[in-house]
Amino acid sequence: MAARTVGVLALQGDYEAHARAIEQLGHRARRVKRLQHLAGCDALVLPGGESTTMLKFLQDEELFEPLAGWCRSGAPVLGTCAGAILLARDVTGPPQASLGVIDITVERNAYGRQIDSFVAPLEETPCDALRGLEAVFIRAPVIREVGPEVEVLARHGGHPVAVRQGPVYAATFHPEMTADTRLLEQVLQD
Ligand code: GLN
Repeated sequence: MAARTVGVLALQGDYEAHARAIEQLGHRARRVKRLQHLAGCDALVLPGGESTTMLKFLQDEELFEPLAGWCRSGAPVLGTCAGAILLARDVTGPPQASLGVIDITVERNAYGRQIDSFVAPLEETPCDALRGLEAVFIRAPVIREVGPEVEVLARHGGHPVAVRQGPVYAATFHPEMTADTRLLEQVLQD
């Protein structure tokens, strides 16, 4: 695979771990904090963290609309956990603004306080390439609805946890927290 420039939204959250995973695969990681950093990126990762905080920064930096436009451009995009919440069409628990670039409805913090963080190997994987991936869930959202154009790549406990709509991927777990880079490889191989 040719080396690509992969942007990582670097407003808040777990972006350094994503940058390391990108570099480990031989690509360049570019931290995206302002509009001008998006130019020249071949792909983009929206990390986990706190989606409400990221939203506030996106609005303060006037990045919300340009980012939504960029995510619709046909380039590969991966949103993980809070990043998946940002990409969704609709957000509940409570409702908040989102970029609306993948046809899913997500409920924030939907696993409840008792099991709000856990690690589980993915067993139910319509996408063979993801079988057995150790998925780290941290105050994760649940994908409650998927539109007709959305392909489910993996489920856990009956809920979709990795999905794609064309080049836009959303995962409710944190692939950057393990050494297993299969999901990122999948996103970048298209
Ligand atoms: N609970 C966070 C949110 O609602 C997401 C948590 C995460 O990214 N690990 O934004």
